[in-house]
Amino acid sequence: MRHLYLHVPFCVKRCAYCDFTTYATPRGSARMGEYVVALLRLLGEARECGLVDGLDTAYLGGGTPSYLGAEALGRLLAGVGELLGSGAELSFEANPDSLADDVLAEARSAGATRVSIGVQSLDDAELALLGRVHTAAQARERVEAAVDSGLDVSADLMCALPGQTDMVFGRSLEQLVGCGVGHVSVYPLMVEEGTPLAARVDAGELDEPDEDDEADRMLQAAAYLDARGFSRYEVASYALPGKACRHNQAYWTGKSYLGLGTAAASMLSAGEYACLRAAAPSLPDLPPEGARVRLTCASSPDEVGAASGLADLAWDVEFLNAREAAAEDLMLGTRMSAGAADAVVRRAREAIGAARVDAAICDVVGRGLAMQGEDGALAPTARGWLLGNELYGALWDLARG
Ligand code: SF4
Repeated sequence: MRHLYLHVPFCVKRCAYCDFTTYATPRGSARMGEYVVALLRLLGEARECGLVDGLDTAYLGGGTPSYLGAEALGRLLAGVGELLGSGAELSFEANPDSLADDVLAEARSAGATRVSIGVQSLDDAELALLGRVHTAAQARERVEAAVDSGLDVSADLMCALPGQTDMVFGRSLEQLVGCGVGHVSVYPLMVEEGTPLAARVDAGELDEPDEDDEADRMLQAAAYLDARGFSRYEVASYALPGKACRHNQAYWTGKSYLGLGTAAASMLSAGEYACLRAAAPSLPDLPPEGARVRLTCASSPDEVGAASGLADLAWDVEFLNAREAAAEDLMLGTRMSAGAADAVVRRAREAIGAARVDAAICDVVGRGLAMQGEDGALAPTARGWLLGNELYGALWDLARG
C-alpha cells in the first residue's frame, strides 16, 4: 500500500458549521500525547505485517494536526517519515491559530513537504459567522510564514456563505493568492444537521445557502484562479504547475490507502484486507464476491490511545463487489479534470457489462454533464462540475445489480 492517512481528532473548539469527527480538547492535554504514541505503535505494527512501507504519500488530517504542538506533531511526522519512499509527499493539516513558527520548523525538519491550511475566509465578519478562532490578519500572516518556511502550501476557502457578496469572496481569493500559496481548495458551505449554524438557519437568523450563489462563486473562483496560472484539476482543487496534491489524487484514482485513528477511512484490496485480518482477526471474513473493502475506524480517541495493537481497534466494514468497485472508480474519476481514464472505463465495461456502462455514458454525455475524449477518458464538463451530484449519481447507479 502506497498511501496512508492518519486522523487527528482534536481542535481548540468546534467551528459553527463543523460535523467532522473532532473533539474540543484543552491545549497540551495528555490525551493528545497518548493518541500520538498509540498511532506510532499502530503504524509500527502495520509496517511489520507488511501493510505499509515505501509510501508515496501520507496525509495527517483532522481535526487540527497543528494543534498537537511542535513536539508531538514532529514526532508523528518523523514516525511516518520512516515509512516513506523517495520523493514522497507528506502533508499535514493546520489552522492559522496553531501554526506557530516552532510547528512549521519542526514539521519541516521531520520531513513534511506540504501543509494544508484551513483559512476559510479572509474577512473577519465571515470568520466570526463560521465560529473560527483566527482573524483574517492572523491567517494571512501564518500563510505567508508557511510559504516562507519552504513547504508547499495549500489553503481552503469557503464560498456561498450567508450574505457573502462576490466582492467579499473576491477579496479573500485575491489576498490568499497574494500570500504565495501554490494550491487552493474552494468548497461551498454546507449546513450540516445538528451544528450551531444549522440551528441559526432553522431559527431564520441566517439564510440557507443558495445553489445559484454556490454556482456563481465556484465559477468566480475558477475564472480568477485560472487567470493567475492555477489549473483546476479536481472539482474543488486548483494548483500551480507541479503543486497538485498527490494524496488526494490517489483517492480519486482508485488507489488503496490505509487510514488509522478515530474515524479514519481505509480502502483495501482483498489481499491487503487479508493482511490486516492477520493482525486483527476479529474482522469479518471477506465474502466470496468481495473485491474491495472500505473500513472506518470506530474507536474513540481514548480507545485508540489505549490500543496496544490493530486487534484492539473497532472497525465499521463494508465489502464492495467488482461491480461496485468499478462504478466507484468511474464516479470518483469524473471529479478530476482529466476524468476517469480509458482503463477505468474499460474495467467498468468488463465488471458491469458494456451495454449498461455505454448507456450510462451516453446519458451523462447527452445531458451535457461529461464528455468522452479521443483517448477514451470520461471527463466532466463545466456543467458536470456545477451539477456534480447528478453526474456522480448517474455513474454510481451502475453499482446496483
Ligand atoms: S477546525 Fe476544522 S475540524 Fe476543527 S472544528 Fe473547525 S472545521 Fe471542524
